[in-house]
Amino acid sequence: MKNNFIIALDGPAASGKSTTAKLLAKKLGYIYIDTGAMYRACALSSLNKQISLDNLNLLNKMLNEIDILIKQTNQGNKIFLDGEDVSEKIREENISLLSSKIASIPEVRKKMVALQQKMGANGAVVMDGRDIGTVVFPNADFKFFIVASYSVRAKRRWQELQNKGINSDLKKIEEELKWRDKNDSERTCSPLVKAKDAYEIDTTNLSINEQVEMILKIINKER
Ligand code: C5P
Repeated sequence: MKNNFIIALDGPAASGKSTTAKLLAKKLGYIYIDTGAMYRACALSSLNKQISLDNLNLLNKMLNEIDILIKQTNQGNKIFLDGEDVSEKIREENISLLSSKIASIPEVRKKMVALQQKMGANGAVVMDGRDIGTVVFPNADFKFFIVASYSVRAKRRWQELQNKGINSDLKKIEEELKWRDKNDSERTCSPLVKAKDAYEIDTTNLSINEQVEMILKIINKER
């Protein structure tokens, strides 16, 4: 039986993709690749180097030199930018907005997509993002499109921050999610869109375990 599937999980911001993808990968003994973290690392790099997103020359130079590494550790995935562990830094709100802006630049996407295709080439991978089932791996073995209501997504993000000891404003979080979804869905290059052959999973009323079980059921039924 084939057991090196490529599993694509796409969907809007904070819809529960990453948590589900992480657990799913663990259950299947697969590697997990968070492609959003890669765009976040690009955003952080442009900020560190003070490169304006209009300056394509400097951006291309940055992309030629950028070193993004996703390390699987016992404490989950760690993301390194040019040798530095930036796993925490890339989660800050200013990086969320900047990552959505930088992700609409075709040159940035071209570079990240090539890296992602290399990372997943051997299969046995769960990859989450916005364009995995449409652009990165259009022939993925399984494609899922994860959605949830805005209020639930905002609340989950708020709780996540709260757990880290960060106080935040629920309304502001919801606005930021809406802005990012709009920007991600309306860009010309690889917009956020459900692949025709993706299963849509609405996680609004599901617990994490229920989400994972629902996906596993579909995978097990078909393999
Ligand atoms: O998934 P996450 O919210 O961390 O992603 C940050 C941003 O990176 C998204 O808002 C989106 O603009 C971009 N992204 C993308 N394509 C992917 C993954 C993320 O455009 N495959």
